[in-house]
Amino acid sequence: VNGTYKILVTGGAGFIGSAVIRHIIENTQDSVVNLDKLTYAGNLESLAPVSNSDRYAFEQVDICDRAELDRVFKQHQPDAVMHLAAESHVDRSIDGPAEFIQTNIVGTYTLLEAARAYWNGLDGQRKKAFRFHHISTDEVYGDLLHPDEAPALAPHELPLFTETTSYEPSSPYSASKASSDHLVRAWLRTYGFPTLITNCSNNYGPYHFPEKLIPLVILNALEGKPLPIYGKGDQIRDWLYVEDHARALYKVVTEGKIGETYNIGGHNEKKNIEVVETICEILDELAPNKDQLLGQKGQSYKSLITYVTDRPGHDRRYAIDASKIAKELNWQPQETFESGIRKTVQWYLDNQQWCKNVQDGSYQRERLGVIE
Ligand code: NAD
Repeated sequence: VNGTYKILVTGGAGFIGSAVIRHIIENTQDSVVNLDKLTYAGNLESLAPVSNSDRYAFEQVDICDRAELDRVFKQHQPDAVMHLAAESHVDRSIDGPAEFIQTNIVGTYTLLEAARAYWNGLDGQRKKAFRFHHISTDEVYGDLLHPDEAPALAPHELPLFTETTSYEPSSPYSASKASSDHLVRAWLRTYGFPTLITNCSNNYGPYHFPEKLIPLVILNALEGKPLPIYGKGDQIRDWLYVEDHARALYKVVTEGKIGETYNIGGHNEKKNIEVVETICEILDELAPNKDQLLGQKGQSYKSLITYVTDRPGHDRRYAIDASKIAKELNWQPQETFESGIRKTVQWYLDNQQWCKNVQDGSYQRERLGVIE
């Protein structure tokens, strides 16, 4: 791989990892080695815009496989690691936590050990410059006071997650991510291994796998299927456009201070029901064949909204204080929720083939060499 700075990105075929790789290849002179096991969530079609670059290479490897990790470090000699590989879907973690423990905890441990062995063998200058950036979630902090529980407080008086908020994860997913954050901090403290951590709020945007709320709602609506909302839909999430996250992550890995944690968020607190209604309003305006699909002229996509039993242990509110990364690394999101969600809906309308390949499973069959 050619390029000035070489970054090993784990989980680069996933939603955020692919955005990071597209950002690096399209906007910098650096090179990327994408290390990904290609689980159901890994989709190489999300890298189509950059995969022909001579600054991009792909390795299909499981982060739990130490021998293969050692080979990749030796062969590619990266200057930094951005670790995004994880099992990431909360509902799946409730139905089957084993993979979450394996990949998120054992996998992060195995990657830390392989990276540390490689770092130990580097010569002075390269050893000093090396960094390991662990990408995590704000869900490790648990949840926050919801405005319904504190009607006397003004919005700006409600608490936010900061970098020093204590950990109180609620789901098997967030507990496994919290464990991995603790391992990374212990490797810094015990071995002096140069790590950085970022904890980010909910991402949305292009190439998002349609099991997550926003793409699920867009694609179900376009097929005239019900739009499921957990409970009353009043849970609050702080939404960040994925390309804003990718820019923040690149800033942290290149300019962040070793040993630091940075919270990343979009200052966009929205109730789930507001998110779904906004998508419906944009689709009412942009989607073709609406009246035909909904069977009645002038009907809104909102008529498809269906309330379903709440997720057990569902966190009520997340909200990030992102002032540290704004102040220290001069990062700000470029998209508001309104501009980002409009771009996202338009992207799904314009990229029906990507969606179709995910929905019918052909994105997986292709890489397994299955001939239809
Ligand atoms: P994703 O599920 O879309 O992608 C995960 C990627 O990791 C996939 O390509 C998958 O094939 C790969 N992977 C899984 N297990 C692996 C293993 N054992 N070895 C190698 N590769 C493996 O996830 P995402 O939404 O892109 O999230 C990326 C990271 O960011 C995760 O660590 C997640 O915890 C964190 N995060 C996500 C969000 C969000 O809103 N999506 C918010 C904050 C933090």
